[in-house]
Amino acid sequence: MNKSEYDRPAMANAHKTQVEEFGAPISEGDYRELRNYAKDQNIRISGFRNYVGDIEAIKTVIDDIREIAEDFPKIIDERNGIVLELDFDMKKEDFATTGSGHVIHLNAFYFCNLQLLKQAYSDAVKEGDFVAGTDWRAIGRHETGHVVANAYGIDSLGLIKEVLKLTSIADVFYHLGKELSIYSAAYNDGREIISECFSGYYSKVGNKIADAFVSRCLLVGKAGEMDESL
Ligand SMILES: [Zn+2]
Repeated sequence: MNKSEYDRPAMANAHKTQVEEFGAPISEGDYRELRNYAKDQNIRISGFRNYVGDIEAIKTVIDDIREIAEDFPKIIDERNGIVLELDFDMKKEDFATTGSGHVIHLNAFYFCNLQLLKQAYSDAVKEGDFVAGTDWRAIGRHETGHVVANAYGIDSLGLIKEVLKLTSIADVFYHLGKELSIYSAAYNDGREIISECFSGYYSKVGNKIADAFVSRCLLVGKAGEMDESL
């Protein structure tokens, strides 16, 4: 039995559960409208035939990615540009995730219910987990930060040491946890620094660390463009 044969019945079951749990997916017309909207911005979507909810929410995510792409055009490169994937199997603790590439996974549990998403995100901001003053739109900006880091090879730990003028990693994370967000200091390899800085900078909440960090990244974005044109 090959893997694709093995997976098929499981996928059919997963779809049934999804419809039962979330309700009927969007119409074919809405799906096509969303897909074309994304395509016009050089963004691909996946899994959205099963989307339940208002496609305007996903269009907003696409607009927010597009704004960042004006500074970091590699992320909408035709071959390796961002893919937005709606995922029904994610753990509830994640709003969204991005691996080492250019695929942003959105958790259907939240993105199919914008009210729930807004509430859960703002509760987390109140706890200090995410950048003060940001709202749910920071989630897409955060994930796009990961894609930028991957596409441009940004060394977040190196940059943040320069921004904070600190040499001790322990001091760096102490400041990040206090002045940016708890989540930005969650991993010792610094992987959440750029994403939380993007969240703050592109949400225009006036976080000094986020603004200083992204202004350094913008230089890298420009250099990346120059390299490509040489
Ligand atoms: Zn992240």
